[in-house]
Amino acid sequence: MVNLLDFDLDALAAYCEQLGEKRFRAIQLFRWVHQRGAADFGQMTDLARSLREKLAHRARVGALPVIGQHASGDGVIKWLFDVGDGNAVEAVFIPEGERGTLCVSSQAGCAMACRFCATGHQGFSRNLTTGEIVAQLWFAEHFLRRHLGRAERVISNVVMMGMGEPLQNYTALVPALHTMLSDHGYGISRRRLTVSTSGVVPMMQRLAQDCPVALAVSLHAPDDALRDELVPLNRKYPIDTLLAACTGYLARAPRDFITFEYCMLDGVNDAPEHARALIDLLARHARAGLRAKFNLIPFNPFPASGLRRSGAARVAAFARMLGEAGIVTTVRRSRGDDIDAACGQLAGDVRDRTRVHQRLARRHPVALPSAGAL
Ligand code: SF4
Repeated sequence: MVNLLDFDLDALAAYCEQLGEKRFRAIQLFRWVHQRGAADFGQMTDLARSLREKLAHRARVGALPVIGQHASGDGVIKWLFDVGDGNAVEAVFIPEGERGTLCVSSQAGCAMACRFCATGHQGFSRNLTTGEIVAQLWFAEHFLRRHLGRAERVISNVVMMGMGEPLQNYTALVPALHTMLSDHGYGISRRRLTVSTSGVVPMMQRLAQDCPVALAVSLHAPDDALRDELVPLNRKYPIDTLLAACTGYLARAPRDFITFEYCMLDGVNDAPEHARALIDLLARHARAGLRAKFNLIPFNPFPASGLRRSGAARVAAFARMLGEAGIVTTVRRSRGDDIDAACGQLAGDVRDRTRVHQRLARRHPVALPSAGAL
């Protein structure tokens, strides 16, 4: 049985053609599935009975079993989806005024092992399929419409910032983005669809060509010595290479800036020296055309990290320094803390295949390159 959630509109049209159907039938079917949330072909009354019968024997809408749902006091909802073999992934809905953002997972676990990230500490099991990525949005959108009694769209923004490094799952990611963007699907605008990456440079270049959407980059450090410790991928794609790729991305990006995520870690990357180094770094790359905004993220501590959240005064001082240097800077309000749905806390169940615990046990505590100056 094929899973229709695996298909973007072009792939669905090709599939319908195999069944002897024209493209407009694929559009009708796509709209039933994604815009109306239908999973039962019998409901799709404007499709010819013969097509409905063919589909009933060959195809399904592969919803993921929901094995947990937690609502936070601030309106955030987190779902845990079973993806089989003991793996579960999370998606989080964050309402904010008129805007509804869904944070979507791309992998069961993550192989990147970023120091401050709960998912990274779980190791990696496997890539999600396109259908499993889309199923998180399919479920959340139609659940929320029913739950809130709304006929129109609830989710206006999608951020690929859940579990996993989306650009390490590129071939499944891109058709999922197409479905999210399609006017016959979820109609999310390119500016409101964000892929977040720890800096997989070659795939950033491909994304700019194949499906340019808004880009967020997990920076977290102003220099290679510290970033090597916090984001191990930096050893492969160091900061200057990464920022040059960001500048290149802007030529096709739907927004005229890249968002840099910076997780504020007490005594590690939050000193005035770090802010000054970031300002110098950004100024150097601005001369080559880089435009950037900063998003400072209060760290959400978890026991295995050995790291602490920066104090509010320190975060504010850091933000002030960047702002005074002309860098647009926001401090992310942590949402959903009470249900472990805040940034860096997403950690479904993962059958790790990467021996992450042995690797992490061999690592020394995070180096503090400028500790003397703190
Ligand atoms: S921050 Fe992102 S890339 Fe790094 S370990 Fe966590 S999920 Fe993976």
